[in-house]
This record gives sequence, structure tokens and C-alpha cells, in this order.
Amino acid sequence: MTGADGLSSLRFAPIASASMDSGPNIESSIAARVFAFPQKHLIGVAGLSRSDALALLDFADALVAVNRQMDKKLGLLRGRTMVNLFFESSTRTQSSFELAGKRLGADVVNMSPRTSSMTKGETLIDTAVTLNAMKPDLLVVRHASSGAASLLSQKVSCSVINAGDGSHEHPTQALLDALSLRRAFGDVEGLKVCICGDVLHSRVARSNVLLLQTLGAHVRLIGPPTLMPSGVDRWGVEVSHDMRHGIEGADVVMMLRLQLERMQGAFVPSVREYFRFFGLDREKLARASPRVKVMHPGPMNRGVEIESGVADDPEISLIQDQVEMGVAVRMAILASLARRLENAQ
Ligand code: ASP
Ligand code: ASP
Repeated sequence: MTGADGLSSLRFAPIASASMDSGPNIESSIAARVFAFPQKHLIGVAGLSRSDALALLDFADALVAVNRQMDKKLGLLRGRTMVNLFFESSTRTQSSFELAGKRLGADVVNMSPRTSSMTKGETLIDTAVTLNAMKPDLLVVRHASSGAASLLSQKVSCSVINAGDGSHEHPTQALLDALSLRRAFGDVEGLKVCICGDVLHSRVARSNVLLLQTLGAHVRLIGPPTLMPSGVDRWGVEVSHDMRHGIEGADVVMMLRLQLERMQGAFVPSVREYFRFFGLDREKLARASPRVKVMHPGPMNRGVEIESGVADDPEISLIQDQVEMGVAVRMAILASLARRLENAQ
């Protein structure tokens, strides 16, 4: 088994030449590729090195083939318990993690505690201490407060995976986006990526900016000034408030959902106005690169931030690939973290 120190030197076959076994051999072939994650928890992509991110993506890429077989079950997490603790409602992320855990053979429990009657801090810590006593191995957490996953990781003895905390980070989303881009373009390095819309409230934007920069992409944020975070000038990216201009030459246009539930007060004059200036339609998209691909983390507000015809065009939309890559990336994270657990074999 490779120790944590030797990680950066671990190399996997590049995607193009990666040859996968099938049938009974796939289990041992995958087991040999498990990446040992450099940290006990995945709280964010901040701090993930380029080589570690690439090794994780290589491993996830190998798992895509497993997910396309009839028998999708592996035993890498057999005997492990994984808890999905979702304080904020989610369908796609929660089911993606659940499938990932089950396909690796873990026992998966879903919990959606209500936060309304207690303060969020108390609920979180009480729940964490109670859960910890049940000895789970992996705890996937989503919470409306930024910093919740990190706080939880200090209270439990298992590995914590952040499935979205407030407007802070959503690391598995950025990793699945990177995997989708690598499969579409071959490499993320050098890609011109525009992230458009409600950057202010978006944990997806934060995690993507960090990971895309780590992987060498050029990132431009586009949105109205009211939906840009203060201090965005220190993010090391270009910022544009004019979508028609900002989108020019883009290889990738990543649209963000207008997070109406996080808005107190009026951030946009009206949804119709918003679509006119910042919604992705064919006319604006025509200014991007001819090889442009469109992404959206879901759930989409059709006709608000993106035109249906664009979202559903299989020639340009990566939206379904993103969902597929989500399961593979989450399997890769779970297996990689489990390899570090104290009682790992
Ligand atoms: N924001 C949610 C998620 O990421 C969207 C959904 O549940 O469909 O899971
Ligand atoms: N599903 C993503 C999230 O949970 C994006 C969104 O909800 O708009 O952050």
C-alpha cells in the first residue's frame, strides 16, 4: 500500500491510453488504482494540489467504465457505513452520493434533520456527536451555513465530505465538472471558461474557480455587479458585467442558477430583465468559440438563466455528462478517503 507521502509520485495511465479490464477482472483492476487521498476530509478543493486533483480525476475516469456495465457493484467499501446528512434539501447530489456509496458496497443511511426548531449550530453539533457514537466511516454533509462541514469534521472521528455548505464550497461539483471537461476537451489546461450568473450566492462558482485555476484554465466571471461578491478582484480572475462581451471566444460557458432562496431583497430587477442581459440563448452563445460547451450544475431555471434549446442540445450541452460524472467522482472520493481510514486494510 502506498503511504500518504508517496502520493504525488503516483501516476495513472492517461485517459486516452487507459485500458480497462472488464468482467471479474475489473474489481482488481480498480482496486489497484485507488488513490489514497492526502487529507482525512474533503471540505473544499482549496488546498488540493494539481497532482492530487489529476490523480483523483484519473481514478474517477476509470470508474466511469464500471458505471456503464450491467454489474456496477464493487466491494471497495464493503463493511463500511456511510451517512448522508442533508440539512438542506437536495435530490441530485444526495442520490448521486447514495448511488456512489452503494455501488462501492457500503451500507448507506440517509438523514435529513429539520433545523427549524433549534438554532443551526446546536442541531449540527448535537447531531454530529450522536452520529459519531454510531461509528460511521464516511459522513457526507450538506448544510445551509458556510463552515458547517469544517465544524462537523472537528467533532467526529470519521471522514467528512462536504456536499455543499452555504455559499462556501461544493468540492465534488467542481471535481465532476473538471472530469466532464477533461473528457470533452482532453485537458482543462488552457481552456477559457466563463462562469456566469449568481456568483455571489454560489458555492459551485467558488469551488470551480479554485479548481479550474489549479488545473490551469483561464476563468472569467460574468454577472451583474449586484451578484458579484465583494473582494472578487482578489480571486485572480477576470470579471465582466456584460455577457455579450464577456462570452467572446469562450470554450466553456458554465451557467449558475439564480439562487432566489438565498436572496433577501431585490438583487435583480425582474427575471425577464435578467434573462435578456444574462440568460444564455443562441444569440449570445454565437459569440463564444465554435467548439463551445455549455454546463449547468442543476437544478436549472429554464428561461431564467438558460434557454431550453441550448440546455438540451446534445452537440453543445455537457449537462447530462455532468450528472453521470458526478457518480464516478463521488465513488472516487469515497474510495480514496476510505483508504486512509484508521482501520483500512
Ligand atoms: N442544489 C441541489 C443539489 O445540488 C439541486 C437538487 O437537489 O436537484 O443537490
Ligand atoms: N446544486 C448546486 C448547489 O447545491 C447548484 C445550485 O443549487 O444552484 O450548490
